[in-house]
Amino acid sequence: MTENDERLKRRVAAAAEEALARQGLVTALELLTGLGWLHPAHVDLWRKGRVPDLEQLIQVGPDRVGLALELLFDWASAAGLQPAAIAYPVRSPARVPLRFSARGDEVIDRAFGIQWLSPKLTARERERLLERQGRAPDLVVIQPLEDFTCAICGTEQQGLLIMQEPGPACMSCADMDHLVFLPAGDAALTRRAKAGSRLWAVVVRFSRARRRYERQGILVEQQALGRAEASCLADEEARARRRGREQARRARLDLGLQQQMAAEIQRLFPGCPPERARQIADHAAARGSGWVGRSAAGRALEERALELAVAASIRHQDTRYDELLVSGAGREAAREQVRDQVARTMQAWRSAGEQDAAATPHPLRDER
Ligand SMILES: [Zn+2]
Repeated sequence: MTENDERLKRRVAAAAEEALARQGLVTALELLTGLGWLHPAHVDLWRKGRVPDLEQLIQVGPDRVGLALELLFDWASAAGLQPAAIAYPVRSPARVPLRFSARGDEVIDRAFGIQWLSPKLTARERERLLERQGRAPDLVVIQPLEDFTCAICGTEQQGLLIMQEPGPACMSCADMDHLVFLPAGDAALTRRAKAGSRLWAVVVRFSRARRRYERQGILVEQQALGRAEASCLADEEARARRRGREQARRARLDLGLQQQMAAEIQRLFPGCPPERARQIADHAAARGSGWVGRSAAGRALEERALELAVAASIRHQDTRYDELLVSGAGREAAREQVRDQVARTMQAWRSAGEQDAAATPHPLRDER
């Protein structure tokens, strides 16, 4: 092995270890990104089917790529990693077939189709990782726990970094500083912002307590976030408007019920003053008497219920019933005393439609 190859071997090991620590697996695609031979934004173009194959985006020759893949194979086997096939989406969302090598090189394509899984994964973690393979792997940006020095521009940084060759790169050097951070927590907003962003990345931070990287949110294009926020807001407004309509409809229904009851009282008791019919109806409706006015049987019951409501109203307002109760008369005795008077008023209200309205007995007119 030449000195150059030895150096590449160390770099492959470093990049693979980093990917393994971050996500429990390493793939050829991530190795090339980690080595800085593939720009994440270019990988994204490839995933979206904007370029016919991945190979043309790699910044080194096929021999170097072949050697790096071989070194990855050796390193992973020695480290006890388990190979598994990757279920890469065969086609991009635009229905363009996703190809790795330009000429359909079998060895290269096979190497890209393998992922190396950490032996430390539990069966469940392994299963979940494999399940996720159906989707294109996410671009990952790290929120470092400490300041870092960008390996490209050499300045000390406090912000986000992406692992690249020759080391951590700041967002500006990675051409990702136009992206904005959207913290995790709003699933709908995140989904929409991601869908509308040509380039996006997952932001993770290492948890010392749990000894693993944890998702903090995503980086997306400002415009995509704006559009996503607008459509979520529109949804929220639509929901609020719908709620408002529901309430109004319910209020109208309740009002409708009272009006129907008042009308029904007027139909049964044409002599009942309209204001009084409304008052009785309001009272009965407020008590939630379950008046529905549908079936014939229901209708008969409703009539009976309304008659009782009218009788009660007359008893309380037009007779001495309440006074009798207050003075200690028993309920039955008090009712007995006012029974005839209630019946007479009811009869008068019932038949008033056939008579002159002026003849309708009324508490105030009775005193004339
Ligand atoms: Zn930089």
